[in-house]
Amino acid sequence: MEQLKKLPITPTPQKFPSLIKEAKNLAGCVGRAAKALVTHKKVLAPTEIRAERIAICEKCEYFAKDAVRCYKCGCKLFAKVALATEACPEGKWLKTNEVPEWQELLP
Ligand code: SF4
Repeated sequence: MEQLKKLPITPTPQKFPSLIKEAKNLAGCVGRAAKALVTHKKVLAPTEIRAERIAICEKCEYFAKDAVRCYKCGCKLFAKVALATEACPEGKWLKTNEVPEWQELLP
């Protein structure tokens, strides 16, 4: 028993969410993008925003480097950061499509 107490504590490996949870996340993602499309809001995030988002992800504890996925939501990050309708599940970056495109043209 004493020997067991002396063993170093190794962190539990991160796991992706269950397939059911990932399917729900994907359905929500598709739904938000479709809603943005029909309400004339932005669907895709600008290139500079995508770069900012992925830079944040790369420093995050939930970043799965090999798969370029998020351990928290299970999303493939190259797709998630490209969608204006998506936000980080930890609040580290936000969605960018709250303003309809036509309003950005106003003076
Ligand atoms: S989406 Fe958020 S939680 Fe996931 S890796 Fe990026 S910053 Fe981290």
